[in-house]
Amino acid sequence: MIISVASGKGGTGKTTVATNLALSVKSQVQLLDCDVEEPNAHLFIHPVFEKSEAITTPVPQVDENKCTVCGKCAEICEFKAIVVIGETVLPFPELCHSCGGCMEVCPEKAITETGRDLGVIEAGHKNGLEFVHGRLRVGEAMSPPLIREVRAYAHTDTLTIIDAPPGTSCPVIAAMKDTDFILLVTEPTPFGLHDLKLAVGAVKILGIPCGLVINRSDMGDDQVMAYAKEEDLPVLMEIPFDRGIAEIYSMGEVLVEVMPEWKEKFLELYDRIQEQVSNRQEHPS
Ligand code: SF4
Ligand code: SF4
Repeated sequence: MIISVASGKGGTGKTTVATNLALSVKSQVQLLDCDVEEPNAHLFIHPVFEKSEAITTPVPQVDENKCTVCGKCAEICEFKAIVVIGETVLPFPELCHSCGGCMEVCPEKAITETGRDLGVIEAGHKNGLEFVHGRLRVGEAMSPPLIREVRAYAHTDTLTIIDAPPGTSCPVIAAMKDTDFILLVTEPTPFGLHDLKLAVGAVKILGIPCGLVINRSDMGDDQVMAYAKEEDLPVLMEIPFDRGIAEIYSMGEVLVEVMPEWKEKFLELYDRIQEQVSNRQEHPS
């Protein structure tokens, strides 16, 4: 099973939920930190990294000796990542989505692939937990290809927990797509509700079952609860505001390790997720 932990906005406690859930289940579990622009789950997990892999994406390079400047490559590129300027064909690797279309249509076979550096993937372990994260190269604008590479580390025979990037744009879709369950972490504030609605909209498009974790649940107002009821979204866990919890987080420690009573609560969360997934399998909508 693959569970992605997401939130409409940053700072809601998404990484707290992903790391605590992973460390509670502990055996046969992987944690993939797909927040490649700002990976931080490792700061809490403290894995021993055993592998580092540089990731590139293919982009076109043009052989001027073969090119007849016919313009077919520029015509097919939806992203304006290869253009004809006068008698020159100019690729813009930063805009390229690596679809290979230009190479395919070039009648002179003048286009070959070269690699654009996306970043690195690091993989390691912490006791029984397998940990993988991606680090996007500074200045790289396109994170989905690196996110897909991190996701390729998912095994089919384990529980995989994905710490998704915040927001509702392409990176978070790349992290949530083709997962079995999406856990949306939110907080009961007007900002939280606004971003939750956007996230729920994205989840509905993907057609994946989801549930909520409400962090700092005893603060703010009851609008998130009312929205959850209205949209029939199960609230699977509530984490109250607690100075002790905030201090544990700020010291880079993990709640279930410092306050073991929380481990039971995260295991209950996992049970509820499993129930939701099997209900969905029995009654697909
Ligand atoms: S399709 Fe090939 S030959 Fe035509 S302009 Fe592009 S690179 Fe040159
Ligand atoms: S590989 Fe695709 S996106 Fe990149 S330049 Fe060629 S056509 Fe455009």
